[in-house]
Amino acid sequence: MSRIYQAVTTGVHFGTPTRVESELALFLVNCFDSIEMIRFVNSGSEATIAALRAVRAFTGRSGVVKFLGGYHGWDEAMLSGSPYAAPHVEGHTYLAKYNDLEGTRNILAENYENIAAIIVEPVAGNMGVISPRPDFLPGLRALCDEFGALLVFDEVMTGFRVAYAGAQSRYGIRPDITCLGKIIGGGLPIGAYGGNSSIMSVMAPLGSTYQGGTYSGNPLSATAGLATLHFLDQDQGYWKRLEEKAKTLCSELTSIANRFGIPTYAEVIGGMFTFYFLENQPIDYASVQEANVKYFAKFFQGMLEAGVYWPPSQFEAAHMSLAHNDSDLELTIKAAYSVFANW
Ligand SMILES: *Cc1c(COP(=O)(O)O)cnc(C)c1O
Repeated sequence: MSRIYQAVTTGVHFGTPTRVESELALFLVNCFDSIEMIRFVNSGSEATIAALRAVRAFTGRSGVVKFLGGYHGWDEAMLSGSPYAAPHVEGHTYLAKYNDLEGTRNILAENYENIAAIIVEPVAGNMGVISPRPDFLPGLRALCDEFGALLVFDEVMTGFRVAYAGAQSRYGIRPDITCLGKIIGGGLPIGAYGGNSSIMSVMAPLGSTYQGGTYSGNPLSATAGLATLHFLDQDQGYWKRLEEKAKTLCSELTSIANRFGIPTYAEVIGGMFTFYFLENQPIDYASVQEANVKYFAKFFQGMLEAGVYWPPSQFEAAHMSLAHNDSDLELTIKAAYSVFANW
């Protein structure tokens, strides 16, 4: 906060690049092996829209493969397959199932001349948390290489959460383009996309594909983002502590639920987790749909009455914070106990 107050006094907007914007760019380029060049926008949605412009311009192809239940912002093409899509303008989006390499391969094999990229949340977070099977992300990398498509990792949520340098460092995969947002703005609006410089160079002013924004890389967002990332940089293993705390909480919750005969399954990756009213580990959009949403609603209401505000949907990820301490976790476990005991 103090860094934001300080930044306000030196001017909130100039309409031209500032030193702090370059510092944040440099920080991210150093942090992510796959990012050689980066551009800022104002939200995660803008980041994926711009990334898709870049991959289309670079490949000369217009189609994009996305996974059912994946969220990449409100762009029409990216809402394809969700209840929020406007069907008449969805074209050019091919829908695959998360964790289904064979189905994805079939789509590419049949349509590769039209497919610019595969875009994926490397750990799914917007249909509830789903972990990639061990062969899934390496398989997507190989499919892209085989069919001349680019691999876009949407790390807007997973960046600095499932590992310091995102899912790509955790799983050792090099995407062509990475989308970032959320945490890199330290609470203020931001988005970014970056990657291989030969691809990023298609964007103006180096190339002829236009993308811009009045507030892109504004000094307040860049200041807040840089302060947050510098803080995380001091102890790059912080996400392991988040994962440990989330695992502890989830194993307590599942064992309480089981004691009262309610089947649950918890998925935890880094600070991201979902407590599912499901018996088995979900692998894709269809399998999370089997969750008992009536039970979830009952759990949510009960927790709220007991003073714990859980994410308000079964299909939304919960996030452990460095600020959550032992007594917060104890309070949550006690609340869950009272909810399940009075089921
Ligand atoms: C939140 C999110 C977005 C959209 O970001 P906004 O800043 O809300 O536009 C895109 N992709 C993923 C994976 C997200 O979690």
